[in-house]
Amino acid sequence: MEEMMIRAIRLELVKPVSESWDEVGPLLRLLAMATPKLLNAALDARIAIEVVGCAAVKAKIAPEAKAKTGDGLAYPAVLRAVERLREWGEKKKHPFGRLQLPGAMSSAIARAASQAFGRRDQQRPHFASERVLVRASETAVTSDAMGAILSVMLRPSGRVKFACARSWGTHEKTLKDLASGALPHGDCKIRYDERRKKWYALLSYEAPEPAPQPVDPRRVLAVHRGARNALYLLSSTGERGIPFPGSKIMAQRRKLSARAREIKRTTEFERGSGSKGHGRNRRYETYEALEDKIARVTHTFCQQAAAFVSVTAKRMGCARIIIEDYGGIVEDDREIRRVLDKGPLYALKQAVEHRMEKDGIELKETPSAYISSTCPRCEARDSRAHNVRTGIFHCRTCMFERPADWVAAYWMLMHGGADMSTWTERMARERKFREMSRERPEASAAE
Ligand SMILES: [Zn+2]
Repeated sequence: MEEMMIRAIRLELVKPVSESWDEVGPLLRLLAMATPKLLNAALDARIAIEVVGCAAVKAKIAPEAKAKTGDGLAYPAVLRAVERLREWGEKKKHPFGRLQLPGAMSSAIARAASQAFGRRDQQRPHFASERVLVRASETAVTSDAMGAILSVMLRPSGRVKFACARSWGTHEKTLKDLASGALPHGDCKIRYDERRKKWYALLSYEAPEPAPQPVDPRRVLAVHRGARNALYLLSSTGERGIPFPGSKIMAQRRKLSARAREIKRTTEFERGSGSKGHGRNRRYETYEALEDKIARVTHTFCQQAAAFVSVTAKRMGCARIIIEDYGGIVEDDREIRRVLDKGPLYALKQAVEHRMEKDGIELKETPSAYISSTCPRCEARDSRAHNVRTGIFHCRTCMFERPADWVAAYWMLMHGGADMSTWTERMARERKFREMSRERPEASAAE
């Protein structure tokens, strides 16, 4: 049986159709600003139910509601929060005074809050990021001669349509399948990207997990020990890059190391004073146990990462992987590495090497100099192109923009002698499209 996977496609909203940004922009901002507040209100209600019981909460927020369960009360909780925001906004002359949500959006928010309540562990979740939630049934994708159109219910009175930016390759194909209905879509999330100054929609859909491909000696997988992710995998076949995040293990290592340091400091202080006794020895034991734990945690993580590389290489039918020969990325003598800067870089590489040997996948090393400061599209080299803080590569010559881990993996493939015809063709096409849209600045907007 085929495994199904939830994926999401990111659509750049170029322009509202038959309306202007002057009308739609403030509406999106208002809804995006209100949504985290409403999510928190619904979550508060859910938590209050656990503390004081359903009847008490119901009496307070929605005495007339029919709901008798916690999940059922999330919806009236959202409605009440909308009401309160609006009253507050009217009094303060704030845009919230005009806040109006379509019913389906309120229920999407209630559902998201209930889901977060179900998933919570020790800590109380808190919603802060601004976004607009639209239910699958209130979202539609169509296409016309100019490209894809996203239609979403943003007002009680109706839908707003957006022209989406042009795309290529697998993105374009997925978008076409969504528009034709061949691929059913799920809920939609709309967010503003502060850096790009643009609105994006994230549309979820379910797709079968791709079947493993036959191994092809021309297929190569770059295994980059990333600046943002522990590993970043990119194949020569043109599929999107796959991150293997490392922030969780880094947080765990930091915590354990801090505790170990604390214990060591205390014990050394005691030894200095010449004190004796079981307490000191016991603490040394604890210290050693912590060191052991750090080593174990690191080892397990490296094994998992290596297994992930192996599974991915097999799934993509890659006969060979490429890994950097050097631990860090050096650019103009500054070392760029965030996630694993004090982490198990060497151990990670060794684990990958062992696993590849065991699984019969060829491994090749490639130098890592300048791989995240050279533009894949125009080949300009500029160390400023890699924004270390955001982990984004931004070419100042041709405005090419991608995660820096992607750019590094691209150059690893190139330097490692992979068949780059798919990628170079795509870069050439992007270059051509960019030149075209420069001649006609409105080319990508559907008029
Ligand atoms: Zn460039």
